[in-house]
Amino acid sequence: MRIGSLLDDRMRKRFVHCHQMAQVLRCGKHRGKSFEEAAQDRGYCSWIFREQGLSKTLQKFRDYLVKEHAGIVTVGKHKQKFFKEVEAEDPGYCEWVKNLAEPTFFETFQTYLQGYAEEPPAKKQKTEGITDKCKVCFDRPIGCCFVPCGHLATCLRCGLKCDRLSGECPICKEEIALVTQTFPA
Ligand SMILES: [Zn+2]
Ligand SMILES: [Zn+2]
Repeated sequence: MRIGSLLDDRMRKRFVHCHQMAQVLRCGKHRGKSFEEAAQDRGYCSWIFREQGLSKTLQKFRDYLVKEHAGIVTVGKHKQKFFKEVEAEDPGYCEWVKNLAEPTFFETFQTYLQGYAEEPPAKKQKTEGITDKCKVCFDRPIGCCFVPCGHLATCLRCGLKCDRLSGECPICKEEIALVTQTFPA
């Protein structure tokens, strides 16, 4: 499960270095623009979050968006705003989304919002094996990978929380440069 152990220290450093340098889109309609500029095109960002088969360069852009903005709202009055923006602008709305019994289109947003609540609700017990469970909340399936250490240890919610709160991997304590969302095959 440990991808990072395949890379020696020097390679890992280079990897992080490349990541920090590569803040310009190298393909797609915003080619040549910085990640920051491209993030202003919210329709494009929505597509980035939705699309499953992104190229490596665009995946980097998605990683950037996840790190900076967590996600994008796809429906309702705050459509095409980033999660963090809605959180800052309209706490009442967030409260409403957080408590929706059937979030449907708001599911990712709700997951994000609940991730910062004190007590994560322990619902949705699926039948995955114990090894696929998040090592932090022991509830949701593993959904992200830390770069550069490569640990697949937490759900996306807890991964983002670790990044925000301590900035280090809960398993090996290595500094988190990036949290990458992972998808089960
Ligand atoms: Zn978790
Ligand atoms: Zn680690």
